[in-house]
Amino acid sequence: MKSFKAILSFIVLILLANSLLAQSWSIVLHGGAGGMKKENFTQEQIDSYQAELLKALEKGKNILANGGTSLDAVEQVVRYLEDCPLFNAGKGAVFNHDGKNELDAAIMEGKNLMAGAIAGVGDIKNPISTARLVMEKSVHVMMVGRGASDFARSMGAEMVDSSYFFTQPRWNDLQKVLSKEKMGTVGCVALDIHGNLAAATSTGGMTNKRYNRVGDAPIIGAGTYANNATCAVSATGHGEFFIRYTVAHDISALMEYKGLSLVDAVNLVINSKLEKVDGRGGVIAVDKNGNICMDMNTSGMFRAYEKSTGEKGVGIFK
Ligand code: ASP
Repeated sequence: MKSFKAILSFIVLILLANSLLAQSWSIVLHGGAGGMKKENFTQEQIDSYQAELLKALEKGKNILANGGTSLDAVEQVVRYLEDCPLFNAGKGAVFNHDGKNELDAAIMEGKNLMAGAIAGVGDIKNPISTARLVMEKSVHVMMVGRGASDFARSMGAEMVDSSYFFTQPRWNDLQKVLSKEKMGTVGCVALDIHGNLAAATSTGGMTNKRYNRVGDAPIIGAGTYANNATCAVSATGHGEFFIRYTVAHDISALMEYKGLSLVDAVNLVINSKLEKVDGRGGVIAVDKNGNICMDMNTSGMFRAYEKSTGEKGVGIFK
């Protein structure tokens, strides 16, 4: 009788743990990695970056805590950051060599490996939402340039004049050609209570870029990846390296095929593989159990996270 009771309470405990686990969610966002140093920031600047990161986080948290999907959460968080001129995505995007803004974005769902991306657009207010339209309303994964804009227009996406993206600080950056210092891509990864992962990344690319250069952000497996079997990843940094080292997919593959934990997989890719070749940047990631990771081989990365357990944080410097 005693052992029957013990078994019964064990089963009840397992069921309880399972239902708690099913209710859990996690979200991480970034606002770009780079060579930022604390001494170059005023306290006011630090406060305003952190305040915007936390406002974006709140958007995603509200969706996830109310049972919404990770896909909606990552899209809405990235939209918020695209509208915020502090970050290099949407309004506030960096300028290319010709003084124009060319935006890239991608979104991916871990449950079915569906993905959508756009690159090199200069008239779509929220590139991340058009990336989602590409995923959901077209048979393609990626559209670029004028075609992507035509598609966005046909879908009723909000279009803007290219002057909408102008911000004085980014213009000054181009004039100074501070290309290496200016990052600020935005991204978000999330796990929802349904057990689904999603990732989204949006960027203006790198200051002073030429020849319709496209970075890693809209490349599935490079700057953006989500797979319910492993993790969701959004990257920021020197895009050429992230494409060559297929960073986001490599992290997922190390977990899937080598059984590495999320933290170990990210550490190996960011602090060993990329570090060796001087590939600068960082990633945010969440695994299928809600574990999170935010790691960089730069001196800083704008970032924030929150979990259903109540854990929460925001940071800029390493
Ligand atoms: N990864 C982006 C790119 O290379 C830039 C960044 O994250 O700042 O386009």
